[in-house]
Amino acid sequence: MLRLENISKTYGDGVEALKNISFNVEKGEFIAVLGQSGSGKSTLMRCINRLVEPTSGKIFLDGQEITGADARQLRVLRRKIGMVFQDYNLVKRSSAIANALAGCLGRVSPWASLFGHFPRDEKERAQEKFMRMGLGHKTFQQAGFLSGGQQQRVGIARALMQDPAIILADEPVSSLDPAAARNIMETLRDVNMRDGVTIICNLHMPQLAKEFGRRIIGLNKGRIVFDGPPENYKDDQAIYGTAGAQ
Ligand code: ADP
Ligand code: MG
Repeated sequence: MLRLENISKTYGDGVEALKNISFNVEKGEFIAVLGQSGSGKSTLMRCINRLVEPTSGKIFLDGQEITGADARQLRVLRRKIGMVFQDYNLVKRSSAIANALAGCLGRVSPWASLFGHFPRDEKERAQEKFMRMGLGHKTFQQAGFLSGGQQQRVGIARALMQDPAIILADEPVSSLDPAAARNIMETLRDVNMRDGVTIICNLHMPQLAKEFGRRIIGLNKGRIVFDGPPENYKDDQAIYGTAGAQ
């Protein structure tokens, strides 16, 4: 469903963040992209939704080229791509449910949404996502007052409001304590298994990647140094440059 062909990204200051990255993603995969800080994980994700323009190479989603898409085509393609962020990216002063409803903006008139007028069926869908995320009692709470784990579940609910084909999660658990981190990884796994949403999840901890990824792509200094199932992942040498996990 997603194909990257020889993607390279050199930033304006000459930093080569990605070097000739190619891989295919099949529908329903759960991929953990593993690498230490600065290895290019965020750049890779941002190239996929074109928040960052690759310097060279091509990316296709469901046969349509993302690289080279014009603004209108890009809007349509981006609707298929849900994003989940390390720092949640919620509007902290808005209610939890208003944040989730922002995920359906592609389908709702901007004027209506500006005044908080969302169609009833969209509100019902948001409520369903909240029940599923165990947030039923937090619907009208200000997002900024929720715990980190709860905020990230609002972030996942918002991504689900788009009915995405794929979710790109950029270090979704790096700001969370271990218990909340596991809970979020389990939630992403449930979305992957039950809804068939393809997931690419950036992580810097090998333990989580091995447990939750059904395929691991290892990055080191902008190059792919491992691509395979967790059973084949033997040591951290190639990714971390040391034998011990970080
Ligand atoms: P990761 O997410 O794995 O930490 P990044 O993709 O953020 O890695 O960064 C990869 C490399 O690109 C790093 O050397 C980083 O400093 C550099 N980089 C990231 N974003 C920018 C930018 N906007 N401008 C210049 N260099 C950047
Ligand atoms: Mg990053």
